[in-house]
Amino acid sequence: MSILASVGGLKIGNPGAADSRNQDHSQQGKLGKFRLSPLSALTVLRTYTYGMLCKSASLATPTLPTMAAMSYPLIKNPRRSVLRILLVTVLFTAPLAPRPVCAEVTSSETPTQRFDGQRAYEYLKQLCQLGNRMSGSPGMLQQQQLLEKHFAQLGAAVGFQQFQIRQHPLTGQPVPMANLVIQWHPESAERILLCAHYDTRPYPDREADPRRAREGVFLGANDGASGVAVLMELGHHVRDLPTHYGLDFVLFDAEEFVFEERSDRYFLGSEWFARQYRDDPPSHRYIAGVLLDMVGDARLSIYQERHSATWSDTRPLVKEIWSTAKELGVKEFIPRIGYPTAIRDDHLPLHNIAKIPVIDIIDFEYPDRSNRYWHTTADAPGRCSADSLGKVGLVMQTWLASKR
Ligand SMILES: [Zn+2]
Repeated sequence: MSILASVGGLKIGNPGAADSRNQDHSQQGKLGKFRLSPLSALTVLRTYTYGMLCKSASLATPTLPTMAAMSYPLIKNPRRSVLRILLVTVLFTAPLAPRPVCAEVTSSETPTQRFDGQRAYEYLKQLCQLGNRMSGSPGMLQQQQLLEKHFAQLGAAVGFQQFQIRQHPLTGQPVPMANLVIQWHPESAERILLCAHYDTRPYPDREADPRRAREGVFLGANDGASGVAVLMELGHHVRDLPTHYGLDFVLFDAEEFVFEERSDRYFLGSEWFARQYRDDPPSHRYIAGVLLDMVGDARLSIYQERHSATWSDTRPLVKEIWSTAKELGVKEFIPRIGYPTAIRDDHLPLHNIAKIPVIDIIDFEYPDRSNRYWHTTADAPGRCSADSLGKVGLVMQTWLASKR
């Protein structure tokens, strides 16, 4: 992303080695595709059963599986009820620790099966292992395949919004680009939009050494991968959210396909998406949106972004989300406007062209006010942390659970 000219016309938005291909993906995918240990199998069965009971009871948020709480759904069909009581009794008296999915969202709207920051961090490292992921690059192509598979396995409807905007600044060839659109409950007409950019800057052009700025590999662990990693992990929790809104994750291409700061334009993907939404309106409407950018800094401090906190249609959303963080005790969400100036990011086209109320959640002090890791080779997985991703993810998960 970039900031306004008042900071010397700078743009804003930065790696290391990654090492975790051998992640355990056994928990991904739909129920039928799991490779389960006996313990996991019982947990899943317990979860699934309780989920069915909760659904049939229209009890969106029971706290714990007491028989009293479940009595309502059981009275309609006595024969089935007896079976359910037996099944529930067996399942919930077994000595296993995990709680059922349906009980995750309590009356205080705090999910108990928490967003897993460590798994999100493993995803971040996995993305960085692909190397640079600028628009049209082999790294981007590999990333697209990885993400398409990931979200499809979790049960989402996944599609690419393809576009071609201009020639490659260096080769003169057209560059194929694509926003990745991941839909949950695609039938819902009222939807919430969560987004991030998934391209990386071509070069670490803020390196002090000009040669390193040209030849170094920009991994974009924070500036690129962090928002994507949060959404990858959040995908595991969507089916447990009690919201009646549909949910879209959109990953924007070409947020910063920028070779020449003075002439190359930012936000090509989000601008394309916003124009399509405006000019060829879909049957659904977005009631709110959140952009996640640079949310993985190990030294996390997220101030409110100036545009987001001052636009009349997004101000309430900023308040909601920072209040959620406060209730959760996530102090890294600092409830006041920060950063020297308003930040230009993908939320601008979404707000100004598509008229979607979208806020930007961004930590633009990487690692501190000097922002010295930004757009340098220092933007590596080692500068990010599972703890930070976990905090941002938990806030998003809890906020989504409150949207009903
Ligand atoms: Zn950037």
